[in-house]
Amino acid sequence: MTDALPQYPDKREAPPESVLAFAELLRRSSRVVAFTGAGISTESGIPDYRGPGGVWSQGKPPTIADFLDSRDTRLAYWERRRTSYPEMVARQPNAGHLALSRLAEMGKLSVVITQNIDGLHQDSGLADDAVVELHGTARQVQCTSCGTRESGEAIHKRLLAGADHPDCLQCGGLLRSATVLFGEQLPREPLRRAVAEAQQCDLMVVIGSSLVVQPAAQLPLVAKHGGAALVFVNRESTQLDAHADVLVLGDAGHALTTALDLMEGTPDGP
Ligand code: NAD
Repeated sequence: MTDALPQYPDKREAPPESVLAFAELLRRSSRVVAFTGAGISTESGIPDYRGPGGVWSQGKPPTIADFLDSRDTRLAYWERRRTSYPEMVARQPNAGHLALSRLAEMGKLSVVITQNIDGLHQDSGLADDAVVELHGTARQVQCTSCGTRESGEAIHKRLLAGADHPDCLQCGGLLRSATVLFGEQLPREPLRRAVAEAQQCDLMVVIGSSLVVQPAAQLPLVAKHGGAALVFVNRESTQLDAHADVLVLGDAGHALTTALDLMEGTPDGP
């Protein structure tokens, strides 16, 4: 029997040129912004939307209009949440999330701008104000009438106690996940901060995003326009690949860990 040929990400293989170039850009940069999508969390067991086998292939999530207009849509949403919430909070940050918190400890990462709603960047050790959640968080729910928020834990207890359509405890209004649904505007302050960070960074690393959800997908172009270098780390190509200075095709966890290891192995300097 012969040994299978080692394949990237096998550690015996030299890192590809793209990862070496990524490490070199990290070494030269002092203000890095990571812009993450669902792809950074697939290695934690959370499916993405548009990758193979992603949520998109099993049907689109509800729009805000569906949610507000249809009691059946809301009942289906809460029923799904009864099983999906404990599954989500049981997920752990993976090597990709941990590499970014390592970059923050080195003082190079100014912020993570994320399209994700899973809270795994904070679980990896990043401070709340080091994470800009463009699409909100599934760890809280919010009243559509008075805006009161309730923790995911509290609402889960109400679901387990038998509520099939939990309403706001303050005003009786409709509760919903504190996430942006299709058809809704992004929250203003996170978007403002994301644009400002993109304009000021010297390197933006885009990780695990198909770059089709707007206006989030404009942020790499904002960074490029402001003079930043762009690195894309993704399993597949995207429609913005032509704008990237470095394209790393592969799994986020291994690519980020390898690039940081390589950077730490080389002295700082221009
Ligand atoms: P997307 O599903 O449209 O695209 C994910 C991309 O990541 C794909 O191109 C895929 O090839 C790539 N990918 C998957 N696993 C990877 C890995 N291990 N390493 C590198 N690349 C990998 O995701 P999107 O662009 O973020 O847009 C989806 C929207 O859905 C977002 O708005 C987000 O809020 C939401 N969403 C969030 C989660 C989450 O919070 N974890 C999960 C699913 C969807």
